[in-house]
Amino acid sequence: MSIVNEIKAKTILRKHKKIDSWFISRYGMNFYRGCSHNCIYCDGRAEKYNVEGEFGKQVAVKKNAIEVLRRELDIRKRLPLIRGFMMIGGGVGDSYQPLESTYEVTRRALELMLELDFPVSVLTKSTLVERDIDILKKIDEKSSAIVSFSFSSMDERLSAIFEPGVPPPAERLASIRKLKDRGLICGMFLMPVIPFLTDTPEMIEQSVRCAKESGVDFIIFSGMTLKEGRQHEYFMDVLLDHYPELSIEYQHIYDGNKWGGASEAYYQSIHHTFYHVARKYRMPVRIPAAVYADIMNDNDKVVVMLEQIDYLLKLRGAKSPYGYAAYSVSKLDQPISKMKNHLRQLKGVGKVTESLILEILQTGRSSYLQRLMEFR
Ligand code: SF4
Repeated sequence: MSIVNEIKAKTILRKHKKIDSWFISRYGMNFYRGCSHNCIYCDGRAEKYNVEGEFGKQVAVKKNAIEVLRRELDIRKRLPLIRGFMMIGGGVGDSYQPLESTYEVTRRALELMLELDFPVSVLTKSTLVERDIDILKKIDEKSSAIVSFSFSSMDERLSAIFEPGVPPPAERLASIRKLKDRGLICGMFLMPVIPFLTDTPEMIEQSVRCAKESGVDFIIFSGMTLKEGRQHEYFMDVLLDHYPELSIEYQHIYDGNKWGGASEAYYQSIHHTFYHVARKYRMPVRIPAAVYADIMNDNDKVVVMLEQIDYLLKLRGAKSPYGYAAYSVSKLDQPISKMKNHLRQLKGVGKVTESLILEILQTGRSSYLQRLMEFR
């Protein structure tokens, strides 16, 4: 049982500096601080997020969230908001953790999104999201909705150790199948994979195969971070209880990087494995353009597509100039269509990038991105 604190939030919407090409989102929101799912690797535990109390046991509920959100989303004052998906999830508390069945804050937020006509993307580890299929369907019919589940693997035993408050992987997969049967777009966030436990080629392949069989539309993959302090200590205590022989391996790859990242060589090796498995199963490794192209303005669409191309090239071990070009476009303070005869003035935009951008502006799509996404 969690200890619940009801709090009043001053703000709910979290604005990113630029469109986020993982989630295709400029705005995110959380209704809970802390999470009784209590994943051992959760970085919500890190000091930098200032979550008060014992993480995993104490959860704060933003009781006035909907009132604040309605004010923040006032559509007449905030037209520029309409870019990409409203992201519900991530951060320091799952929006469908058990308390949600009592407080229903996430459900009421979805009702508000439906009323105000915002596309929504939900990320959760909980099967409770099935309760809201009715509203998600209506949002999808009016604008667009994506529901994604995160997993560290398909292994029930490892999940019970490292995700003690979360429904087992098989139940999350069953939820995906139900949502797919209702025609919703579903993603898998295969993140974080846990070093030396769920990051092996066999485990990654099992996850991708199960995702494919469940009808998932895309998989987003990432390794684990361990920030020094509370997150690192908590994780290592549990690791030592169950897998003491691995602690030395962890010391080698987590060497005090200030963001909690593992070594570059380690990340390259797991991404290399993931690339080959995803290719084998022809699984899109980013949200496909067909899902988002019609709900975004040109600038954000160009940024997202260039960043996706950049990721896909790097994933296959190639160099890419497109991340830098995307950054330049994200800094523009005018519609990119007004610059279409002067694109080469943008830093990082050469002849090839110029032609890519022009195709996106003319057709709303990129045939190069499509080819990379299909592993051609
Ligand atoms: S579900 Fe997400 S927010 Fe909750 S404990 Fe797990 S990783 Fe953290």
